[in-house]
Amino acid sequence: MIWEPVIGLEVHVHLKTRTKMFCRCRVGFGAEPNTQTCPVCLAFPGALPVVNRTAVEWTIKLGLALGCDIAEHAVFSRKNYFYFDNPKGYQISQYDLPFCISGKVILPTAEGDRVIKIVRAHLEEDAAKTVHVGGRTGRIRGAEHSIVDFNRGGTPLVEIVTAPDIRSAEEAKRFLQLLRQTIVELGISDAEMEKGTLRVDANVSVREVGSSELRTRTELKNMNSFTFVARGIDAEIARQIAVWESGAEVRQETYDFDATTGALTPHRAKEEADDYRYFPEPDLVPIEPPADLVERLRSELPEQPAARIRRLESELDLERATVLVTGGLDQLWGDAVAAGAEKIAAANVIANTIVGAGLDPAAVSAQELARLVDARERLPRAAFDEAISKLADPGFSAEPYLAQEAVSDESELEPIVARVLEASPGQVDAYRSGKEGLLGFFVGQVLKETGGKANPRVVSELIRERLDS
Ligand SMILES: [Zn+2]
Repeated sequence: MIWEPVIGLEVHVHLKTRTKMFCRCRVGFGAEPNTQTCPVCLAFPGALPVVNRTAVEWTIKLGLALGCDIAEHAVFSRKNYFYFDNPKGYQISQYDLPFCISGKVILPTAEGDRVIKIVRAHLEEDAAKTVHVGGRTGRIRGAEHSIVDFNRGGTPLVEIVTAPDIRSAEEAKRFLQLLRQTIVELGISDAEMEKGTLRVDANVSVREVGSSELRTRTELKNMNSFTFVARGIDAEIARQIAVWESGAEVRQETYDFDATTGALTPHRAKEEADDYRYFPEPDLVPIEPPADLVERLRSELPEQPAARIRRLESELDLERATVLVTGGLDQLWGDAVAAGAEKIAAANVIANTIVGAGLDPAAVSAQELARLVDARERLPRAAFDEAISKLADPGFSAEPYLAQEAVSDESELEPIVARVLEASPGQVDAYRSGKEGLLGFFVGQVLKETGGKANPRVVSELIRERLDS
């Protein structure tokens, strides 16, 4: 049987509003624990919530960017559950009448546009942050004790739910990169997984290709990068296929994916759906977003990343266009090209070197970047790398670097090449038997020997001449 993965994602995004969802405490990271709290977010008796207007507007804006219909009548509901990160005993969320429903995201792929439907996007408050101390895994199981920081409690949180339209781990990763960039460009969240301002749960099942059935799905939680999300999904797909093929049945469960070991650990078995006893929040009135507000927010939307990828694809290729746009680098690329840089070379330098150096693309001088891209082949590698690393410095000029010349003199480089090849007979054999990727290793060794001054193009020609003969 040929199996097909069926994947849906639930994405939680912290909004970077100045204050919390239902009180006027500040939202922020790194403050002393339990200093950004008040009677509302600590659930003192009699304290009443007040809706954060900006959070509502940003949720609507995000919904519009995701192609959603905006509800004319939206309601906050109480989701009841008991846990120590939730002092009220319920979370104010949305249930049957969320702000945004029925959207879609266009995902450009080599096989054409894929449509990922968005079921809903709703607004809620985040729980407090718990830290489990003393355990090996940092989870509650095996911990000596747990402590709670209520600074995070009450932070505005948007939950975006996709339909099970995603067909591979790679596609999930691409979708998340595109979604994240959309959110960042709206200016409503930093959406950083490492900081927990963007969190992803994946619902995974498999079925026979061509079938439309939905088999039992499992949920993957606690993955802290897009790469780990993809790896976790791949591991779960393989596990489920093995279960079905052994004649057993996949059980509905939640798993934690451990990225270091690649192991999936069951979280808890879900015998039946949790019953949260939702009911409309009696302390808040329904919200009916006025049509003119929705239209104003729509008019403020920037051009969609997916549209920019398709536009850039015609000048580069899909892969490079995707990397530039989802990395927020396409503006810099456009400016560098306008300043005279060659298109492909500029894309490569930006995607590899500038990202590698961890520079803020908005701070980089496109003019100076274009000069470096132009001179990249005749500059010594070390000088080029150093210049790139300083591109974001205020008032940076490429001038002093451009005066340096890489060593291209073959008579000077020949003996070094010979020495490097003699020192690595094993790699030379491997290269000759087809491992051509080792060329980069040899070039790297020669560059090291010359303190980064050799011209890599000349070096690689010399190496090829010797090894291919
Ligand atoms: Zn508060």
